[in-house]
Amino acid sequence: MKNFKHLHKDFPILSQEMNGNPLIYCDNASTTQKPRAVIDALVQFYETTNANVFRGIYSLAENATQLYEDARSKVAHFIGALPEEIVFTNGTTDSINFVAATWADAHIKAGDEIVLTELEHHANLLPWQQVALKKGAVLRFIQVLPNGELDINEIDDVITQKTKLVSMVHVSNAVGTHNDINLITRKAHAVGARVLIDAAQSVAHQAIDVRKIACDFLVFSGHKVLAPTGIGVLFIKKELHEETPPYRFGGGMVAHAELLQATWRKAPHKFEAGTPAIAQAIGLGVALDYLRNNINFEDLRVYEASLCSRLIDGLQSFPEVALLGPIAELKKNGHLVSFLVKNIHSHDVAAFLSSKGIAVRAGHHCAQPFAHKLGYDASVRVSFYFYNTLEQVDFLLETIGELLNNNTVSF
Ligand code: PMP
Repeated sequence: MKNFKHLHKDFPILSQEMNGNPLIYCDNASTTQKPRAVIDALVQFYETTNANVFRGIYSLAENATQLYEDARSKVAHFIGALPEEIVFTNGTTDSINFVAATWADAHIKAGDEIVLTELEHHANLLPWQQVALKKGAVLRFIQVLPNGELDINEIDDVITQKTKLVSMVHVSNAVGTHNDINLITRKAHAVGARVLIDAAQSVAHQAIDVRKIACDFLVFSGHKVLAPTGIGVLFIKKELHEETPPYRFGGGMVAHAELLQATWRKAPHKFEAGTPAIAQAIGLGVALDYLRNNINFEDLRVYEASLCSRLIDGLQSFPEVALLGPIAELKKNGHLVSFLVKNIHSHDVAAFLSSKGIAVRAGHHCAQPFAHKLGYDASVRVSFYFYNTLEQVDFLLETIGELLNNNTVSF
């Protein structure tokens, strides 16, 4: 099995100590750390190339525009799209709100059905609740089984002729389930519905090809794939560009403006009014270069699965620990593991781990309806990336053991 130890030196933040111990960062599902190349790209942009894009007839602005458009091409290449199909947004949440406010606002009518899954992050639930309220549309849900997998058998009851949109998460941020998005997309298209894929948790860990999935929209956040915060991606399939209205109106998207009316440019510019997050987009391009040059996704899957397996096996040796999610699957494909500890609140588990320098997430992970369905309020989530190691997993397990052996420990 390949490991990625030679890459640790590329992440300045990881060499620090936290609470007297080396920092062990296991909250990658929340956000990933940034390699030196991405940090340097931001500094270099501001030191050498900073200017607004599209507006200036001078070399600095032309250079900035070139870098920004190069970043768009890199994103397009990364997910098998055309550059004009890539719209830069602030992140996954912004991208989904974009589709809700534009395509859905224009095409969803009273009585139409929008299908989600019970596994969704709030970012892929609340915007649709608002669309349903505004339009008189109906939300339907593919149910989740107790092990965190979708009840695929009932799909044909949920996706029907009334379905206009299926919007679903690729990999669950709460318990790591990998959904069969190809199958569900086929079912949705068979009834003429559009499909949006929330790839926030998958894009950093596996190859994504929008043509293979055949989705209509796909969204993700840069910060979960080594890039800066404040930059996100919305893929809109070319065939939908005409039927998707602009999200915001203003400078940059205009072809021609009069006092009482205006026309706009073609996609993607029609979808990007105002000054975009230029440096962050360039940073995202550099992050994707870094991944392409250093990471083979199949090696990464094997490596992250080995971290999950070690953690799952270790946690299963503690009778007080209850693991959540599709455990056998996570041992093969996972990058995160969620669990509960009997009689110790998940926040207390996370606080104790933090006192030893270990950063994990505790809470409902912005998927409250799912947590409630499974009967918990907060779980502990350990999420990996290639800079985590088996030694770190062992130390984490030791620390959980310490917590369980001395439940009165003060922290
Ligand atoms: N969807 C999923 C599956 C996520 O994991 C997240 C982030 N936790 C989001 C949506 C929202 O992403 P952002 O906060 O970057 O908009």
